[in-house]
Amino acid sequence: LSAVEQDVIDEIDEKGIDFLRLQFTDILGTVKNVSVPATQAEKAFTEGIYFDGSSIDGFVRIQESDMRLKPDPETFSVLPWRTREGEDGGAARLICDVINTSTGEPFEGDPRGILKDALDRAAEMGYEVNAAPEPEFFLFEEDEDGRATTKTNDAGGYFDLAPKDLASDVRRDIIYGLEDMGFEIEASHHEVAEGQHEINFEYDDALTTADNVGTFRTVVRAIAAQHDLHATFMPKPIPKINGSGMHTHISLFTEDGENAFHDDDDEFDLSEEAKQFTAGILEHAEALAAVTNPTVNSYKRLVPGYEAPVYVAWSDRNRSALIRKPAARVPAASRIEARFPDPSCNPYLAFAVLIHAGLDGIEQGLECDDPVRENIYEFDEAKREEYGITTLPSNLGEAIDALEEDELVKEALGDHVAEKFVEAKTAEYDDYRVDVSDWELDRYLEKF
Ligand code: GLN
Ligand code: MG
Ligand code: MG
Ligand code: MG
Repeated sequence: LSAVEQDVIDEIDEKGIDFLRLQFTDILGTVKNVSVPATQAEKAFTEGIYFDGSSIDGFVRIQESDMRLKPDPETFSVLPWRTREGEDGGAARLICDVINTSTGEPFEGDPRGILKDALDRAAEMGYEVNAAPEPEFFLFEEDEDGRATTKTNDAGGYFDLAPKDLASDVRRDIIYGLEDMGFEIEASHHEVAEGQHEINFEYDDALTTADNVGTFRTVVRAIAAQHDLHATFMPKPIPKINGSGMHTHISLFTEDGENAFHDDDDEFDLSEEAKQFTAGILEHAEALAAVTNPTVNSYKRLVPGYEAPVYVAWSDRNRSALIRKPAARVPAASRIEARFPDPSCNPYLAFAVLIHAGLDGIEQGLECDDPVRENIYEFDEAKREEYGITTLPSNLGEAIDALEEDELVKEALGDHVAEKFVEAKTAEYDDYRVDVSDWELDRYLEKF
């Protein structure tokens, strides 16, 4: 056992942990658990834990279904809502890499492995990738049967304080839960919409951050449920008010710890690399959207007027652009903010494709247009054309089409995931297309 693995075993003993949840995610980003008695920890580290991959969405074909989970000891974390000091029955989790048992190699359908590949490419170019997300979510009341409604439990607005912000107690408990799991919370606030919240946590390397996004969603839901509330990361649960985004801040650091995105001499404090990286993301935005905004509902958020981006452009100030350069207090904080991702995405795949697109921008030396400082929501088509501004796909179907035509993004995902992803998302979109919505019934049933 390595020193870190031994530490994990010691902690399991000390804290009375009886169960280990071995976690990984499927292609759609759902966190999967295999629970094993904590007595299996040593075996899990040395031999791995075998499971049948054929039952996991998009993982494998039936005839080659044996997979092995290889726990990453760095991700050990006690589940606070399952563990009481001095009591038995505590639970902890370990995030795992998925290994193909027939080759002994990382399984090509493991999203975590795909992000690791993207980070390897960055490392070959001399960069470490830092990322920080801003996941937004809604808290809704449950009905008598414990099912989620879309009734909010407060009527607060952006940065409102108690007594209007009744949810602040819940948010506080969520923050304690996150802190217990090792999160460093930077800020939390009530978002613009009723019942909408945002909790920001400290940036980290992109792999840790992607792990954290999965954990974050789990903790938020679990603790909301303790308050009889349903937390949802669905991008647009209520029409005509703001939806929930997952703005993603990215920067590249060199091996000697310098921020490669910072340049003191630049008007925007951005280096050439930062602009090329930005240009790479803009260039592939339409295909990226299929991964960063992967649900039918994602495209109900990406409409003008609700602080979500629609137009493929960058800006150093306005929030209607796809990418924004946030103000940075210190050189180390220079970064770009991709504003289009939403929290229904698989964070591993979303970060992987963003990173590949950005790195490609650097490799190709792509040039970035000047930032757009006007409110693009107010541009008409002619003005957008004049500025060379295109738009994001307007629905999941268009996004999948764009993905199928974008070799770079498909390669970033790898053949296996690209194929399974397109298959799953096409089925999702087709299912939506044949449905008849309440809106249509309200509008047409009695009229015609
Ligand atoms: N909720 C907005 C979105 O959909 C963002 C609002 C904000 O963070 N200022 O992206
Ligand atoms: Mg924010
Ligand atoms: Mg926000
Ligand atoms: Mg933001």
